[in-house]
Order: sequence, then C-alpha cells, then structure tokens
Amino acid sequence: MRAMVLHRAHDPLALQDVPVPDPGPGQLRIAVRANGVCRTDLHIVDGELTEPKLPLIPGHQVVGVVDALGEGVTGLQPGDRVGLPWLGFTCGHCAFCERGEENLCDEAEFTGYDRDGGFAEYCVADARFAFPLPEGFDDVQAAPLLCAGLIGYRALRLAGAQAHRIGLYGFGAAAHILCQVATWQGREVYGFTRPGDGEGQDFARSLGATWAGGSDEAPPERLDAALIFAPVGPLVPAALRACRKGGVVVCAGIHMSDIRASPTRSCGRSDRSARWRTSPARTGASSWRSRPRCR
Ligand SMILES: [Zn+2]
Ligand SMILES: [Zn+2]
Repeated sequence: MRAMVLHRAHDPLALQDVPVPDPGPGQLRIAVRANGVCRTDLHIVDGELTEPKLPLIPGHQVVGVVDALGEGVTGLQPGDRVGLPWLGFTCGHCAFCERGEENLCDEAEFTGYDRDGGFAEYCVADARFAFPLPEGFDDVQAAPLLCAGLIGYRALRLAGAQAHRIGLYGFGAAAHILCQVATWQGREVYGFTRPGDGEGQDFARSLGATWAGGSDEAPPERLDAALIFAPVGPLVPAALRACRKGGVVVCAGIHMSDIRASPTRSCGRSDRSARWRTSPARTGASSWRSRPRCR
C-alpha cells in the first residue's frame, strides 16, 4: 500500500510502498477514505513531540471503512464506516481509565504517534477506539470532528455546564467548530486570535462569536471559562486574568510551549480564584498531572 512515512523529525514525509498491515486480536483494518491534518501532526514532524515511534505513518483524524476483522472483534462488520481519533489504546483498568479519564492512562497509545495512523491506504486500529460514524457527514467533513471536534467538545465539557461566557484562545480547527456548538447551546463566545489578526477575528464573529480580539486584549466581560487551543504557554496567565473568580481555564492542546510567567499573581490570592485543567489526550500527561491547580 502507499503510505506517507516519517523517518526522522524535521524530514519531510516520504511516499513509500509498505506492506498492508494485518489486524491482531481485538483489532480491525480500515481502508482509509479521508484523514485530516492536525496541528499535532506538525508538532510530531517538527520534533516538538519527542517520542514518536519511527518510522511512523502519522495521521489521527481517520475516516474509512472496516476492511478486515481481527480475532474476537464484535459489533463492527466489514463495510462499516468508522472514525479513528488520537487516542488509540488504553489499559482499561487503571484509576484513570476507571474514572473516565482514560486519555490520561499511563499506558495510553496514540494514533499516528505510538501506532501507525491514517496517512496511508490502510491502517490497523484497536476496535474499541474505532467509532461508527453517522450518516449526514461526508468523509471529508467527518475527519476534523475526530480531533478538532472531539478535543474541542471535551474541553467545553470540562468548562462546565454553568459556564456561559466562554473564551476560545487560538481560533483554528477546534475553536471554529466549538464556536458554532457553544453559540447553538446559547452561550456567549469570546474569540481570541493572534494580535492584529483581523481576518481571524472577522471569521470568529461570522461563526457567532459575541466578541473577537487579540490574545493580548482583555475581553469586555470577565469569562466563566477560557479554553486554550493555541500551543502557546504564555496564554495560560493571560486566560487566568481574563476569567472571573472561580472561572476555569482548560489547556486543551496536545502540545504547549513553556508558560514562563507564573500565574500565581492572577489566581493565587483571594482577589481572584480560578481552576485550570489540562484536558485531553496529551502525551507528556504525567508532567501536567504533577502541576498544582490554582484555586
Ligand atoms: Zn489532532
Ligand atoms: Zn489505564
């Protein structure tokens, strides 16, 4: 089969012929129809996520059709259309898995990072992490929902059902989906782009944002929650400053640069209190878990 293969960080992907993979027990093989490109793929190729399997076929927004079943797979049949996200395997029995935080499982494996992904004609996946896709989305429309949509929605849930004013930092793939979901839910969205990115701010407003501005600007109202999708550490203290007392800051990306400035002045004293949560399917999860929460 044809595949795009990463051999070394910083090298371009190479188009190669490689053997079609066989599904093992509990796995299935997917004939790939579409695969979105995620910012995280670029972090892997750029060497910012430092522990990919090599050589690697990246890609974790896979849409395809079940082509073959490994031993013991039930509930899916050849011909079913499925989607494959970043989270590709978890142990299923550790404390994180048992309380529904399986993305933080120490044994987690990620599609297109620890396992070959979908920049190929076929890929193999753990059947537990292959999701049947409903009608109503074509393959290309469905692909971004498997990472941008999924991670965005999980970040929105971490913000809490009571959060009415939501700030979205980094108005890219995830935020542009989430802005539409959140406004449909009746929430107010405040879109933050790079300073001076008028086009991005117009885009945010066109999707229903109440306000849009640069990430160096204060929103006109304090936020109930801020969701950070841009991989930019200094946005964490900025988002804490933009939140009301008791607000929630969710770090929703897979990779983020160093925060550098201490957020304690913004959140550590009685004048403000905010919680920050790291969300989704991240590598390096242990380093985040060890960080304190500010309350
Ligand atoms: Zn992604
Ligand atoms: Zn686990």
